[in-house]
Amino acid sequence: MEDCIFCKIVRRELPADVVFENEETIAFKDINPMAPTHVLVVPKKHLASLDDLTGDDVGLAGNLLLAVKEVAALSGVAGGYKMLSNCGEAAGQVVPHLHFHILAGKKFVP
Ligand code: IMP
Repeated sequence: MEDCIFCKIVRRELPADVVFENEETIAFKDINPMAPTHVLVVPKKHLASLDDLTGDDVGLAGNLLLAVKEVAALSGVAGGYKMLSNCGEAAGQVVPHLHFHILAGKKFVP
C-alpha cells in the first residue's frame, strides 16, 4: 500500500528502530512506547487487521506468532510480556496495517 506508514517502513522509505526481520515479518520499536519494552511485530504483506486474514494466510499467521515469541526473547522479556492487536478503530487501532504489540516491564489489565 503506497501511503501506509508500516509499508513504508518495510520498504525502508521511513526510518525505524528495527529489532528483527525475516522473509515475511519485520519488528521495530514503537515510536511512542507505552511500556519499558514496546515493540511492534508486523507482516510485510499489507493486511489492514486480523479481520483481513484468510485461509491463504495460515502460514503467515503462524510465522507472525513465532516472530512474536522470537522478538520477545531478543528483547529479553521471554516469559513476561503481553501481546495484543487492536482490530478496528473501535478497538483503538490507529495504523490500519496488522501489527502485534509486545509490551513488557509494566502491568496492563487485562
Ligand atoms: P494501534 O493503535 O494498535 O494502531 O497502534 C499503532 C502504534 O504504532 C502506536 O503505538 C504508535 O505509537 C505506533 N507508531 C505509529 N507510527 C510509528 C512509526 O513510524 N514507528 C514506530 N511506531 C509507530
